[in-house]
Amino acid sequence: MDKISQELERAAAATVPGRAGFDYLIVGAGFAGSVLAERLATQLGKRVLIVDKRPHIGGNAYDRYDDHGVLIHPYGPHIFHTNSEDIFDYLSQFTEWRPYQHRVLASVDGQMVPMPINLDTINKLYGLNLTSFEVEKFFESVAEKVEHVKTSEDVVVSKVGRELYNKFFRGYTRKQWALDPSELDASVTARVPTRTNRDDRYFADKFQAMPRHGYTRMFEKMLAHPNIKIMLNTDYRDIVDVIPWKHMVYSGPVDAFYDYKYGKLPYRSLRFEHVNVPREQFQPVGTVNYPNDYGYTRISEFKHITGQEHASTSVVYEYPCAEGDPYYPVPRPENAELYRKYEAETENTPNVTFVGRLATYKYYNMDQVVGQALATFKKLRAAEAEGSEAAAALSAPVSA
Ligand SMILES: Cc1cc2nc3c(=O)[nH]c(=O)nc-3n(C[C@H](O)[C@H](O)[C@H](O)COP(=O)(O)OP(=O)(O)OC[C@H]3O[C@@H](n4cnc5c(N)ncnc54)[C@H](O)[C@@H]3O)c2cc1C
Repeated sequence: MDKISQELERAAAATVPGRAGFDYLIVGAGFAGSVLAERLATQLGKRVLIVDKRPHIGGNAYDRYDDHGVLIHPYGPHIFHTNSEDIFDYLSQFTEWRPYQHRVLASVDGQMVPMPINLDTINKLYGLNLTSFEVEKFFESVAEKVEHVKTSEDVVVSKVGRELYNKFFRGYTRKQWALDPSELDASVTARVPTRTNRDDRYFADKFQAMPRHGYTRMFEKMLAHPNIKIMLNTDYRDIVDVIPWKHMVYSGPVDAFYDYKYGKLPYRSLRFEHVNVPREQFQPVGTVNYPNDYGYTRISEFKHITGQEHASTSVVYEYPCAEGDPYYPVPRPENAELYRKYEAETENTPNVTFVGRLATYKYYNMDQVVGQALATFKKLRAAEAEGSEAAAALSAPVSA
């Protein structure tokens, strides 16, 4: 018997005699799928089968120890930050936290300077000694007037002018997206603030912390419930017609669900090059950006992020590319238009609920996906309470 058949037999045996298989089939064991599996099992006593085509749980947030014993994030550095106490409290049931504030430097003109741009960035870059007040004036003097801020270029030049835009943003964005910032939605660079003080934290959220024992341990705790069965290395299509289920929660790519009937939703991908270096520290902070040189955009060193002590250190280089796993939805109006066609389909697919970053074609951080999943759970719970009639209304995606 091959591996899939064995898994199928095990999963089928796990269903309760007299009850028709699983209440929920959940596709994807990332944050979206795992939060819903946990809620449905623990709060509603539902029987859940969660499948993932990858060989592990955790989705893109999965972490593991590499061959040298260093805890790494195979899909790139994942730093947890949120302003939502509810989301932080919810996840705190499954992990202890280690306070961590991410810091990023950018390698520009042969120097390492703070990113986002702050007072120290300007002083170091130009060999000045400006005060906060003076740097504010400086930004005002170099900022370009833009009537209607539409693109990523508009956002930056209207705040810090063209020279800083060229040094910090243009090259990085072109590498990351293979598009000029003038061709990209304002939302891409609007996320990065500019500061006139010396605050060099990458994020300003109220809660900034890493799961003390890693993300995978947190996911293991979330999914450790007798009503939750996990099936890895399995594309849901291989089991969807074999194992009985009543309602599906789908967190994979929405276009794949509909066999790309309107065409492929464009994504930007990354190639990760993981390297272990036989010394204690590689770079002074968690991430160094390389906006203008090399094929990679940034190098991240995991020990800064995880707090692990180890004689060697592991880093990851990120090379943006067109082909590969779908990571970043490309924020252009025609893609939003294409997504809307799929979204309309989801509204007419009554026994499937679409949730998560790929199923809603949105760039969401982890906390936003947790928020979206918790909101989806409330909808599912209400529908369960109202009975099958309301189940028809469940397919519409919920905003984070
Ligand atoms: C490089 C990078 C860095 C990031 N850094 C941060 C960060 O620092 N902080 C932050 O908050 N967020 C970060 N994020 C975002 C974060 O990864 C996402 O918000 C989060 O992982 C989304 O969870 P999800 O469950 O929606 O999707 P995913 O984690 O992608 O999970 C979806 C799962 O569905 C599975 N799947 C898909 N199709 C099928 C199928 N046909 N059958 C079975 N399974 C299937 C996939 O294998 C995957 O495991 C980063 C993302 C990337 C790409």
